[in-house]
Amino acid sequence: MSALSVPPAPDRRPYVALVAHDARKDEIVKWAGRHAAQLARVEIVSTGTTGGRISEAYPELSVTRLKSGPLGGDQQIGAMICEGQIAALIFFVDPLSPMPHDVDVKALTRLATVYDLPMACSASTADLIVNGLLGAP
Ligand code: PGA
Repeated sequence: MSALSVPPAPDRRPYVALVAHDARKDEIVKWAGRHAAQLARVEIVSTGTTGGRISEAYPELSVTRLKSGPLGGDQQIGAMICEGQIAALIFFVDPLSPMPHDVDVKALTRLATVYDLPMACSASTADLIVNGLLGAP
């Protein structure tokens, strides 16, 4: 069963979740710019700081900002996965720095696996997912 076959919450289009750790925020902003035409067709949900950066760079995109990751934003996205609201998780994790909210990061990637959600931690995989779910640019 693909993630898109999970019914979204009433009157909601499925969200694409975009999250990046600090060391990779520039990278996700650049990535979102490459896919802006595709992302304009969906609702985006992001942790606070990532969402702020994306909105600032591309005000035409529809971005819902949750709490910052270390303050619970990762867990909020996890809850949305459980509720069938997320179509894909693009999560640019920093693999080189210790994180105070490492348990939340692990919980989020675990739930994405539990619910068989398309999940990317790198730009190349994120390209494949977005092109697969939303069609070529
Ligand atoms: P942020 O959270 O977008 O608020 O920085 C990301 C994270 O650290 O999970």
